Amino acid sequence: MLPILKSVSLAFGLIHHALPTTVNEIDHAKTCASLVHLPIENTTVLSATHITRPSNIATPGSCQSQALVSSSLCRVQLVINTTSSSAVHAEAWLPDIWYGRFLGLGNGGLGGCIDYSNLDYGTSLHFASIASDNGHDGTDIDGTKFLNHPEVLNDFAFRAVHVEAVIGKQLVKSYYGRIHHKSYYLGCSTGGRQGTQAALKFPDDFDGIVAGSPATDWNHLQGWTAMLGRRVGAPHPTGNSKFIPVDLWNTIAAEVLRQCDALDGIEDGIITEPDECEFRPEAIQCTEGQTTGCVSSAQVDALREIYQPLFGLEGELLYPRYDPGAEADGNSQEFFSGSISSFPEGWFRFAVLNDSMYNFENFGLNTIALGDSINPGGIATFSGNLSAFQARGGKFITYHGRRDQLIGSGNSKRMYNLISQTLAMPSLDDFYRLFLIPGMNHCGGGPGATAFGQGGLESNVVNTSSHNVLLAIVDWVEKGVGPDNVIGTGTAGQTRVHCRYPQRSVWNGASFVCEL
Ligand code: CA
Repeated sequence: MLPILKSVSLAFGLIHHALPTTVNEIDHAKTCASLVHLPIENTTVLSATHITRPSNIATPGSCQSQALVSSSLCRVQLVINTTSSSAVHAEAWLPDIWYGRFLGLGNGGLGGCIDYSNLDYGTSLHFASIASDNGHDGTDIDGTKFLNHPEVLNDFAFRAVHVEAVIGKQLVKSYYGRIHHKSYYLGCSTGGRQGTQAALKFPDDFDGIVAGSPATDWNHLQGWTAMLGRRVGAPHPTGNSKFIPVDLWNTIAAEVLRQCDALDGIEDGIITEPDECEFRPEAIQCTEGQTTGCVSSAQVDALREIYQPLFGLEGELLYPRYDPGAEADGNSQEFFSGSISSFPEGWFRFAVLNDSMYNFENFGLNTIALGDSINPGGIATFSGNLSAFQARGGKFITYHGRRDQLIGSGNSKRMYNLISQTLAMPSLDDFYRLFLIPGMNHCGGGPGATAFGQGGLESNVVNTSSHNVLLAIVDWVEKGVGPDNVIGTGTAGQTRVHCRYPQRSVWNGASFVCEL
């Protein structure tokens, strides 16, 4: 039996940011510890410990050994049995100073890593926050846990975030003595796909969702990624005339910038709109006798293919192209190392083909079509039917870096247009806003103004809703004011306005402005 909490001193208002709710006059340690006895269906609370800030805690699993806790909170470790053959491990961090908001968090890659960085970030902004291992323990480069485990796949494809929302909210209610006021979600990459999946499949789970650089159209993303490797001869890196050594990518990246940097009106190392960049690799093709700092005709062919969209067996678009500019900084080596990237390698071997020895020499459009037909766990996450989420008043913010080296940013435009067509809404401003971030890599980093509150790893973030997408989604849900744009900050402290699609980012001679 849980002790009955004294009633909290504040009836949480509809719109207040600044009025904190604390667990009133309770012994945090004692109340927190009592959660281990909490009866929740299919769930075991493994531990519940109050932590006083700041603290470094030991973490379970293979992903990392410790994590920072910078706010005083009740840390709850739990396991949720999703079926007889699958389970989700999760942690709920319940801050002493709580503003009445719930925050679910996502994952990355094929991984099963609890997102400790964003647990700390969420609780530092006074959200009761929960993150899970996505149904399996392991880092981003793993895929073996899926082999012959369809329920583990289901956790990964759609269920882990749902159960963390359902069970997490029960923990919140028990600890604070009342239910949350509003619920939010924050994630990027696979986490962006999970947030999109939540809006599609479980539209009541979250009032506001921030889904960054989303790995939507998952099956085609994996197929496209494998095909990018095939363009340069993977899985055979050497003795292949199409292969592009890492040093040569620096030459290519410099040539991409030379051809396309100024298209936006200013040579600043950033290609604002990569879709306007018609990169011509012929410009650096080797002349007779030239052997360095240039590409062969076979490499020119490979580059032409890399910067084209991927089309399927019937000529249909499978996936937008690799963004010119994304090849910079050596990031391209995930795809162009001469090996198949670990993500499609793990996915196709262990989730699609159930063949741990599958040889990617045979990989092609037929394999992608097979992945489509199987669609393990319904993971595709490429539907425009967000009508239920829209109808219940849900708000959705998504963003995508324009030099994302792992997920083509064109796919987020494509997703926007799919939703627009499906719902017959020319503009989705009412509930869904996409911000394209020039000069940003996958989820963050790069030469642009790439920090805007999208996660706990970003520095230089200004914690106001104009500069922080997590605070912006709160304002949208609770005050009805959606963000017209998002102001990012770069590593040198520079700022830039990021425009919401389909507005364009236009250089006016002094700064970038957003225009339709
Ligand atoms: Ca530029």
